[in-house]
Amino acid sequence: VASAPLLQVDAITMRFGGIVAIDNLSLDVKQGQILALMGPNGAGKTTTFHVIAGVHKPTSGRILFQGQDITAMRPDGRCRAGVARTFQITQPFEQLSVTENIMVGARPFHHSMAELRKASEAFADQVGLGDRLDTPAKGLSTGQRKRLELARAMATRPKLLLMDEVTGGVDMKSIPGLIELVKSLRQGGLTIVLIEHNMKVINDLADEAIFMNRGARMVSGTPYQVATDPAVVELYLGEA
Ligand code: ATP
Repeated sequence: VASAPLLQVDAITMRFGGIVAIDNLSLDVKQGQILALMGPNGAGKTTTFHVIAGVHKPTSGRILFQGQDITAMRPDGRCRAGVARTFQITQPFEQLSVTENIMVGARPFHHSMAELRKASEAFADQVGLGDRLDTPAKGLSTGQRKRLELARAMATRPKLLLMDEVTGGVDMKSIPGLIELVKSLRQGGLTIVLIEHNMKVINDLADEAIFMNRGARMVSGTPYQVATDPAVVELYLGEA
């Protein structure tokens, strides 16, 4: 159905032994939307990404992608279906160059080596690493590593990208450039779910924000509505 949300998380609960990491969470992500997941440490944000990407099978509930139930699908199947993710701690092959790292992600989509290299260079260019093609990953700054992560994810030609703290640990002056990059990816038709702590980044990027606490949706709405919600303010003041 054309009007169905791209992603539907339907009443997901995820238990690890006695710990309830996600508690009956439902959310929809519409085509072209940027949704931000917020919340304190241990709120269940990363576990939600794991469940969407297929790393964990939820204790109960369903995941639908393009209207199709993918709850039982393995992570590689979800990747081929168009779900990609980036990690809070970037995990490139340190010795490989920027181009080579992207080639690993792009490989299933190309037959010839020359074509694969050319496409990978284009993805590097897309994320602003066009002048770092031969630099080994270990020689990149944190912001550049985040860009490389994005290029590796984009090389799998996703429809949905799960981004875990794309600005986390990045120096202040590199953040505006990353925000512009994410905007350009959305412009290209990508749908995005962000885990993000930086309120300015959320304000600049997200159409909607969901504030999670103890595995459940506590508050949601526009970034402004969430940031000014008394319960959210109290929780953050309580943490400080
Ligand atoms: P952070 O911002 O610190 O990454 P988060 O919101 O991503 O926090 P999660 O990492 O999803 O939170 O964790 C939610 C809860 O689930 C925590 O209590 C965590 O200890 C627990 N948890 C997550 N993964 C596992 C696991 N594999 N086994 C046991 N408990 C887990």
